[in-house]
Amino acid sequence: MIQRPIGNTGVTVSALGMGCMRFENPQDIDGSAQTVLRAFERGINYIDTAPFYCEDLSETIVGVALKEIQKTGKPYFVSSKTSQATDADIRERIETSLERLGVDSLDFYHVWWLVRPGELLERKAQGCLDTFRQLKEEGLIRHIAVSTHLDHQDVGEMLDQGEGLFESMLIGLNAANFSLRIQGVQEAARRGMGVMTMNTLGGGLITDYADKFESIKTPADQSVLQAALRFNLSIPEVSVALVGFRNVEDVDSAADAMDGLTLLDRDALERHQQQIIESREDLCTQCNYCRDCPEGVPVIRFMEAYNHYLFEPDEKAKLLEHLTLHWGLPHVREALEACTQCGLCEARCTQHLPILQRFEDLKQVEAVIKG
Ligand code: SF4
Ligand code: SF4
Repeated sequence: MIQRPIGNTGVTVSALGMGCMRFENPQDIDGSAQTVLRAFERGINYIDTAPFYCEDLSETIVGVALKEIQKTGKPYFVSSKTSQATDADIRERIETSLERLGVDSLDFYHVWWLVRPGELLERKAQGCLDTFRQLKEEGLIRHIAVSTHLDHQDVGEMLDQGEGLFESMLIGLNAANFSLRIQGVQEAARRGMGVMTMNTLGGGLITDYADKFESIKTPADQSVLQAALRFNLSIPEVSVALVGFRNVEDVDSAADAMDGLTLLDRDALERHQQQIIESREDLCTQCNYCRDCPEGVPVIRFMEAYNHYLFEPDEKAKLLEHLTLHWGLPHVREALEACTQCGLCEARCTQHLPILQRFEDLKQVEAVIKG
């Protein structure tokens, strides 16, 4: 297993990390813990969990696995998160996380789910960063981290607002959305931070629809899964690529793909990225050239969600859930009706996508689901 340092923390971990948000049967606590244990056996020692994952059972599952992992005496690193802002609320959350995990401190604790520019400032005003600083002084956190879905042009400002506290950043990055994120990754690395990638497999889309992602493979890749891992880990600033394992088989597939994985150098990676962009005709590449909508419509968010819809047209409820929970857009119709159909975004779209037609499709999806 490749080992990588996490920025300037002095911590070195497995480059393949375990994301604990996709257990296939979380009600089976002991069975799900076997997935974590299998990952650890295969050399994966960075374990990322959070409240509310997997019917709010993820931390409990990880806690069961940690009891066994601790007996081995080998190093492991556990991470959790909170999106709370006040001292009382953050302390309540971390106490729950520590209790569920059965540990005295967290290796990494994330200021979680920063989706909108300015959101960190709002939490700061409520004392969020002061509390994180104190938790570290009290020994309940070893390293302070931040988790975000911000676009690359907003990442640097957000990190500056972090008062130098953030030692690591978790950000969604994969072979399908890298255009939007790669500069943000570089911003974090420039500040000496480690970078963890979530959505390494596009939330499972890349491997579930592997035939659609053949273009991410290089001649060296034996599978799309291996290609996705090679892609993220070839970015030199990336410390860990998280993969959400559903079961033991998922662990073995990813660990096998890591065996003997060779990485692309920067020139080869840039050529590969260009080939990927050119090959995806109907997909939004997340380049964000459509960002200056005069009405403030978040075109890129809707087009990213539409990518999922193209692969899973029958999963209409899941599409709306993605917009609501992932992108924080609960009122789809209202947001889309702000569009005056000026055509600016379509004119700028590097993929020449029929954005306005896709807006109509999304409105219909919402009408079907909400009735
Ligand atoms: S067509 Fe609509 S979404 Fe696109 S830029 Fe104009 S107002 Fe914004
Ligand atoms: S310009 Fe087109 S491809 Fe680029 S983010 Fe916008 S919709 Fe997607």
